[in-house]
Amino acid sequence: MIDTFKPDKGSVAMNSEECKGCGLCVVACTPGVLRLSEKLNRYGYHVAVYDGHGCSGCGLCFYACPEPGAITVYRAATVRESVPLCHN
Ligand code: SF4
Ligand code: SF4
Repeated sequence: MIDTFKPDKGSVAMNSEECKGCGLCVVACTPGVLRLSEKLNRYGYHVAVYDGHGCSGCGLCFYACPEPGAITVYRAATVRESVPLCHN
């Protein structure tokens, strides 16, 4: 039997209080695992959210985002451990 399970190479944490809903991270994400929420944050923005799987840890969303602190990217170091790749 072939095991086809591959753990994600990264993950992202979105800070909905800092996001302005511009969508630049959504466009920048090649795997397409980010989207704008239908819900509004308390400032009235449709904030970016992560689907929860499929992140490669590339960091493109972080570099595309104009809002400091809105996105933190983690790159998987091992199956059990993640380390921050880039954050403000
Ligand atoms: S780190 Fe890369 S793959 Fe992960 S959400 Fe950001 S742009 Fe998408
Ligand atoms: S690029 Fe930054 S501010 Fe724009 S939607 Fe993504 S997280 Fe929000």
